[in-house]
Amino acid sequence: FDALRETDPQIADVVLDELQRLRGGLQLIASENFTSPAVLAALGSTLTNKYAEGYPGRRYYGGCAAVDRAEELAIERAKALFGAEHANVQPHSGASANLAAYAALLMPGDTVLAMELPHGGHLTHGSKVNFSGKWFNTVGYPVRRDDELIDYDEVRELALTHRPAMIICGATAYPRLIDFARFREIADEVGAYLMVDAAHFIGLVAGKAIPSPVAYADVVSCTTHKVLRGPRGGMLLCRETLAQRVDKAVFPFTQGGPLMHAVAAKAVALHEAAQPAFADYAGQVVRNARALAAGLSDQGMRPVSGGTDTHLALIDLRGLGITGRDAEERCDAAGITLNKNAIPYDPEKPMTASGVRVGTPSVTTQGMGEPEMAEIAALIGAAIRGEQVGDRVTDLVGRFPAYPRPL
Ligand code: PLP
Repeated sequence: FDALRETDPQIADVVLDELQRLRGGLQLIASENFTSPAVLAALGSTLTNKYAEGYPGRRYYGGCAAVDRAEELAIERAKALFGAEHANVQPHSGASANLAAYAALLMPGDTVLAMELPHGGHLTHGSKVNFSGKWFNTVGYPVRRDDELIDYDEVRELALTHRPAMIICGATAYPRLIDFARFREIADEVGAYLMVDAAHFIGLVAGKAIPSPVAYADVVSCTTHKVLRGPRGGMLLCRETLAQRVDKAVFPFTQGGPLMHAVAAKAVALHEAAQPAFADYAGQVVRNARALAAGLSDQGMRPVSGGTDTHLALIDLRGLGITGRDAEERCDAAGITLNKNAIPYDPEKPMTASGVRVGTPSVTTQGMGEPEMAEIAALIGAAIRGEQVGDRVTDLVGRFPAYPRPL
């Protein structure tokens, strides 16, 4: 850091300001986490210098012996942790991993059945502003209006009607468990591939806090930076029979040189996730999310689908007469970072939204438990009502400091 301060004090200030923000407030974005100092060390290493197009032992550049070891370790650790036959750890992000999964299994114009964006799906699941919606014929499945859960019979009906080449399950804002076996059955009935986008919850799978999709999916795509607590990046898991197609879809089809510092950092995160302490962590993430959803419900905010089985809760704010956008702003002013989010059948536009999404990966990494979730729910309630809670937020995060050691 001294070198950064000396060379570029402006960027050094940005880094310090961001660290101060992380330490000084409550981080409740469901897709974020606090990586370990070991992960950060690998990310900030000279491995960023290396060109390594290709795969370990089959590179287009010399001098890859050291980075080959990093990638081999990452692959072996991913396979062991998730019981997968094959892993590709090169995707630069979750969206890159999804693009490669489409490229491995489909041709442009093919039909894809995936969760609708306003009901929790991701941009890469068929949005018209994304490659998925522009290059593929995408059909969306909703959640049920009454209980806000996936209606598997409706998914099956849609699959029988539209005969998709690929079905996607896994979402950005769906708080409940997904029945992967049922999706597999539906995919088999119509001869479709099943892609599970486990970007959000792969860390919970690593910690055995929720069931694994690996045995059911043709391809599992993930991010490595959410509950899994690794560097920003993506990963693909699949059976050996699809290994070549997946590898070729990542490189050379959609990417050039892999980010070897990120690949090494993924290896570190996968090592950390294989430790018993990570299973304790993942279990606590879910217990905390349940406690937070229950606490918010006590504050007059309705958890969509009645609660959560995962690391996130989607909260309907209409009972309080406030929009997601205004709630986000009021919480932000109090040092509570969360995001506005559409709820199923939302009457508001996405940039206004009737809800917020909250997640517990970061606060759980800080060591907080259920009592603190009740406290956070009360703080959110007070902030939304317009009370000044900044000091109480500072006091709470002071008791559970993020990055307590100097970095
Ligand atoms: N898939 C899902 C379900 C996601 O929630 C996200 C991001 O939040 C992604 C893919 C894309 O990940 P990235 O932002 O790393 O491209």
